[in-house]
Amino acid sequence: MDGCIFCKIAEKTIPSEIVYEDDQILAFKDREPQAKVHILVIPKIHIEDLNSLSEKNSLLISRLLLKVSEIAKKSGTSSYRLLSNCGKEAGQEVFHLHFHILGGEKLGKIRC
Ligand code: AMP
Ligand code: ZN
Repeated sequence: MDGCIFCKIAEKTIPSEIVYEDDQILAFKDREPQAKVHILVIPKIHIEDLNSLSEKNSLLISRLLLKVSEIAKKSGTSSYRLLSNCGKEAGQEVFHLHFHILGGEKLGKIRC
């Protein structure tokens, strides 16, 4: 989608530190890490947030979630928090669905 920073990252018109990629999913390092390991996992297609998901995205989202453990392990941790901010009030700043993987250290109660 025009003007979406994560679409640009998925298209590689904006650089990122990619840790995992396949035809539907991209995982890259957050540019402002809030934990030793801070990875963002996105679907390559533009979906605004969790509220925008529909039945037709079922396979994509299950594939993405099934990849999280592999991506975390590849990034150096098997103990992590998976988080998705949905909506401005919840702290969402980039309106392209993404999941934060936070780990690599002892985490506080709620972060991100
Ligand atoms: P959220 O507040 O849940 O929308 O999270 C957006 C996240 O994207 C923040 O943690 C930002 O640090 C991160 N971010 C924004 N732009 C980039 C970028 N170009 N490369 C890597 N991470 C980014
Ligand atoms: Zn997008």
